[in-house]
Amino acid sequence: MKITRTTHPKQKPEDESNLGFGRIFTDHMFIMNAVDGVWDEGEIIPYGPLSIDPSSTVLHYGQEVFEGMKAYKTEDGRTLLFRPKDNFERMNISAARLCMPELNVEYALSSLVNLVKLDEEWIPKQAGTSLYIRPNMFGNDAKLGVNSAHNVVFNIILSPSGAYYAGGLAPTRIFVEPEYVRAVRGGMGFTKAGGNYAVSMLAAHEAHLKGYDQVLWLDGVERKYVEEVGAMNMFFLFKDELVTPALQGSILAGITRRSVLQLAKDMGINAVERKLSIDEVVDGVKSGKLLEAFGSGTAAVISPVGELNFHGEKLVVGDGGIGEVSQKLYDTLTGIQYGRLEDKHGWTYEVK
Ligand SMILES: *Cc1c(COP(=O)(O)O)cnc(C)c1O
Repeated sequence: MKITRTTHPKQKPEDESNLGFGRIFTDHMFIMNAVDGVWDEGEIIPYGPLSIDPSSTVLHYGQEVFEGMKAYKTEDGRTLLFRPKDNFERMNISAARLCMPELNVEYALSSLVNLVKLDEEWIPKQAGTSLYIRPNMFGNDAKLGVNSAHNVVFNIILSPSGAYYAGGLAPTRIFVEPEYVRAVRGGMGFTKAGGNYAVSMLAAHEAHLKGYDQVLWLDGVERKYVEEVGAMNMFFLFKDELVTPALQGSILAGITRRSVLQLAKDMGINAVERKLSIDEVVDGVKSGKLLEAFGSGTAAVISPVGELNFHGEKLVVGDGGIGEVSQKLYDTLTGIQYGRLEDKHGWTYEVK
């Protein structure tokens, strides 16, 4: 693979306690082009602006999908990825739905590994920090006709990111969205596509104005069944089961979700994927049957829910703090990701 190194390396951030998320980018990026479904070899080039035509498909019709994963520095200096093939496999599912060509998963992974190795010095080391990895694919024909593009661009950029939780796990406040919907079955809710985010921004904005961190989406048809939150899947721990909404085409199949289901089973918890109505959640809060609720996603890993607001009613989950199972799942997952705990399922992938 062709590698063009930057002649102007950037200053790496010195203060790793203040990295934030997705604001700083490393010195290099990977970029690869497909014409009529056939990818070129791709190359690593200095990080910088892309030149695209103002009529480019992505700018007008939103033909775009992406991924999100992280590289973690272990205490003994190794670099680990977490289930990276799952991300590229999911990207292929997203790409197919938006009429873009699939990647060769092995090749995409080896491209990523080359890029991470080149910019390895950029991986932050402070506890809880990571190198966020953002693969992205978009249609790029220079014409306004509404067709899936013949020319498609795939790229990977890297961003050193701060610890999601500065002072340990913290509970979030969630607004259950009664009106706006994110996706319906048959649409593209199961893909990681920019369009799913565009459609969610207004609800998130309005929830923020009301003092809530995130929106919990209900199903787009009856507005009755729980779907997911922002960029996280949802879990509800009842006295006798841990429930996450079943994948029925409108929510994303999170890799953290998949991992949590496995770890919960390992812990002897009765973890089930099924339809879950918001009424069942509300009743669970009121009867005390609902013990914990949390979101799962690459960014936060586990995000405990302290409070839900449904139709103006404030529902405090458990004691409003961090549940025992939420904490244990967080500790176990991050322990595996940072190489502190044994990786029984072979989820980590060492970059070397
Ligand atoms: C990325 C994402 C998730 C979480 O997926 P992970 O693979 O666990 O990071 C959940 N929902 C949506 C809508 C997402 O975009």
